[in-house]
Amino acid sequence: MSKALNILKEVFGYPAFRGQQAEVIAHLANGGDCLVLMPTGGGKSLCYQIPALLRDGVAIVVSPLIALMQNQVAALHEIGVRAAVLNSSLSQQEAAQAEQKLLAGEYDLLYVAPERLLTARFLNLITRIPIALFAIDEAHCVSQWGHDFRPEYSQLSVLHERFPKVPRIALTATADMDTRKEIIERLGLDVARVFVSSFDRPNIRYQIIDKTNSRSQLLTFIQAEHPGDAGIVYCLSRKKVEETTVWLADHGMRAVAYHAGMNMQERSQNQEKFLREEGIIMVATIAFGMGIDKPDVRFVAHLDLPKSIEGYYQETGRAGRDGQAANAWMVYGLGDVIQQRRMIEESQAQLKFKQVAARKLEAMLSLCETTTCRRLRLLSYFGEATDTAAPCGNCDVCLNPPQVWDATVEVQKALSCVYRTGQNFGAGHLIDVLRGNLTERVKQWHHDRISTFGIGKDLPERTWRAVFRQIVALGLLTTDSEGHGALQLIEASRLVLKGQQSVFLRLQTKPERSAGKRQTNDLVPLDSAERYLWEQLRSWRAKTAKEHGVPAYVIFHDATLHELVRLCPQTEDELRLVTGIGARKLDKYGNHLIEILRGC
Ligand code: ADP
Ligand code: ZN
Repeated sequence: MSKALNILKEVFGYPAFRGQQAEVIAHLANGGDCLVLMPTGGGKSLCYQIPALLRDGVAIVVSPLIALMQNQVAALHEIGVRAAVLNSSLSQQEAAQAEQKLLAGEYDLLYVAPERLLTARFLNLITRIPIALFAIDEAHCVSQWGHDFRPEYSQLSVLHERFPKVPRIALTATADMDTRKEIIERLGLDVARVFVSSFDRPNIRYQIIDKTNSRSQLLTFIQAEHPGDAGIVYCLSRKKVEETTVWLADHGMRAVAYHAGMNMQERSQNQEKFLREEGIIMVATIAFGMGIDKPDVRFVAHLDLPKSIEGYYQETGRAGRDGQAANAWMVYGLGDVIQQRRMIEESQAQLKFKQVAARKLEAMLSLCETTTCRRLRLLSYFGEATDTAAPCGNCDVCLNPPQVWDATVEVQKALSCVYRTGQNFGAGHLIDVLRGNLTERVKQWHHDRISTFGIGKDLPERTWRAVFRQIVALGLLTTDSEGHGALQLIEASRLVLKGQQSVFLRLQTKPERSAGKRQTNDLVPLDSAERYLWEQLRSWRAKTAKEHGVPAYVIFHDATLHELVRLCPQTEDELRLVTGIGARKLDKYGNHLIEILRGC
């Protein structure tokens, strides 16, 4: 293991292993199979990159995304590791050249797309060379229940059949038990050791707030907490992606769009811009993001409800991979609940798929409606025992606890209003009736003459909206099957109406109050001399990144620049102590850095 630690320091420039990295590396380097479950940003790549350097032969890394492979390889080249990609982005000639180098033993790591790996030609090719290991990245892609399902992944068990002696490592950040079981089964990893890290991402602040006007809420949030920061905004539909991008741009933000309806070229242009430039906001459907390893994404915003906690956790996990403070922010309302339920209802999938989808949605809704710490909820969903754990202090529920109130009478009023109006109307109209608003519609249907007209005057509209949202989320009301959004009574409603069940709801006292000031684990503020130095380092980094054709963070992370400013190293030996500076980068950039830092 001292060899591994040496590589960590010398090549990667990091002083110590994180979490379970050391154990995983030792296990794999000794030829054992394993499954590694680690949250995004946990440091999965090193788990196979270091064994790749320790063992004889080339490590074959299977990865589902071209952009991901290219970024990884660019970062490896920066530190002088011999790595290459083999995928559809290469011309025939380039691919042939890569294959030749592979046969000549010139690579320590080769990143391959699964469809390429599975060709008879490639499988034959690699029988001719020593293989250090197989790494299967984003292993949850084998799960046909998940949204990243890739059919080729389910054929990867062939690796073990053809190369039984080569150790395999499967890695994922998706951690629920079902997915875990499926990966083990489908990849034939039953004897593999499983390494499960804590899924907590303490630097991410979770916030889920009542949706009123999602776009202006988003704008306020970004202006207050993230001016100039890079972030991702997730929307459900292509149309909403486009509208939101225009809206942000109209308000002076640098926003770009990404969805499956755009052509490849446009999409990759926008993705490149997001990765390479600083402070870009990516507005996207969930088609965007898998394998995006931009470390300095400062916020992830959801304007629509994700389908499951797995999806939510994976998407929010793209924030703050560098370990610095980041926000996961979401607006959520009744419309989301209705829309997601309808999508499940209307899908053509088999019943068992629909049941799984419905269960996942229920779990997501209970996260939204929880009156206890959101982080503890998330962690317990992923099976991390939390009975004794303390609330996190870094989520909206901890920071601004909602009140829980006995809403039995109000819920009875609402349910009775649904009944009296014939179960034909959505929440908007029902609230008008309850609050005694004489709208055209109320007049047209003579709803000013029914007994529930005006019985809810004492509560403001927003509270009623929250009441309806919660009773639908709690399953005390359902929506009509025709998809008009009309609310209808069910058996559970009857129990409440008859007074046989009480209902407690959450009440957000100050729902619009944002979490406010920056968090304490953020980079320490700089004084003016330090700021000057920081800007100089940043502009040198931008220039260098441009020259090398890589994103700025591939040259150095913000955390490294920050340490340079704070420590002000003046010699090579001092530079060596800075996190993120290994031998190769010291060699390449040491003189430039000393130049910039001289006399500071
Ligand atoms: P994952 O694939 O698990 O999301 P990565 O492998 O991309 O995460 O690692 C996340 C970031 O953490 C990377 O920038 C990586 O260089 C950094 N990192 C990984 N291991 C260490 C370590 N032991 N010390 C310091 N930084 C590390
Ligand atoms: Zn909390």
